[in-house]
Amino acid sequence: MQFAEVILEWYAGNGRSLPWRESADPYKIWVSEIILQQTRVAQGMDYYRRFLRAFPTVEALAEADEDAVMKQWQGLGYYSRARNLHAAARQVAERGAFPSTLEEVRQLKGVGDYTAAAICSFAFGQRVAVVDGNVYRVLGRYFALATPIDTSAGKKAFAELATSLLPKDTARVADYNQALMDFGALQCVPASPHCDTCPLAESCGALGAGNVADFPVKSHRTQVKERHFVYLAVSTPEGLWLHRRGAGDIWQGLYEVSLLEFDHAASIQEVQAHPFVQQHLPEGGVWSQVASQRKHVLTHRVIWADCYRLRYDKPLPLPPEFIAVAPEDLPRYALPRLLTLLLFNN
Ligand code: SF4
Repeated sequence: MQFAEVILEWYAGNGRSLPWRESADPYKIWVSEIILQQTRVAQGMDYYRRFLRAFPTVEALAEADEDAVMKQWQGLGYYSRARNLHAAARQVAERGAFPSTLEEVRQLKGVGDYTAAAICSFAFGQRVAVVDGNVYRVLGRYFALATPIDTSAGKKAFAELATSLLPKDTARVADYNQALMDFGALQCVPASPHCDTCPLAESCGALGAGNVADFPVKSHRTQVKERHFVYLAVSTPEGLWLHRRGAGDIWQGLYEVSLLEFDHAASIQEVQAHPFVQQHLPEGGVWSQVASQRKHVLTHRVIWADCYRLRYDKPLPLPPEFIAVAPEDLPRYALPRLLTLLLFNN
């Protein structure tokens, strides 16, 4: 199956139903795209509905006074978006109709390459690739494309690749563009993508090479990526809980105790509020911290690790994929060196 077909098939079963997808009105699509530029979908949805109730057409927006427009935007932030929308609505009203070519749409105030492509694809059914952050991530990972996305060479390479992947049938292009963005937003998410249930897993370049977290590549990104690990060494009378690391990241196939990853140094309160702890580690355990912010340097990565021991004096149900290993059997399991240092060299 071709890439686009896999994505469209995934979309048929998993795509999000969003109010602006029910319309081919360029004005509505444009408003939704501007709102979503710096706003999460859940929050943007309410604003979208309210904004369209206040200004149902581009003419109504053009005629509104600025205070009324800003009032509708209140709380969304990045107010230049609202000012540009308003100014661009007046541009449209003056020319008498919504522009319909990529170049003309691009001339509207506040409309960049991405928004212009989205309007032309979703409203006018044109054969253009819509490349947002989700698309950069999916294509970067799947094709293991290492050209930095924040360079002109990278933008060109990704735009060409994205265009070459469009489905042959132009009538399906708009759906495919939506599908690829949803795929990035729901499946190939920035941290911990769902590779285990991914229909592209067998042929995914980054997953195959075990370096999913390295894509997409950015030039200004420090070459060294920082990660924050919190190990929880849980032991019950049956032994220490271990599980085997899956594909797509460092230390594939080695064993480890439960590992929680954060994007910052996490407090014990944050650790204890983590869904894994809430779900599998009831009260009654004795917590002790055995390492704090231990620095571990790997090629292209620095890991900051915390480690807690957590002892229970009665057996607990094991989380899926975990085994309980008696102390005398531990030497049979290969652990990453960092974890060995934390657990046994303190
Ligand atoms: S296998 Fe993982 S990294 Fe590759 S496309 Fe699927 S979710 Fe993304």
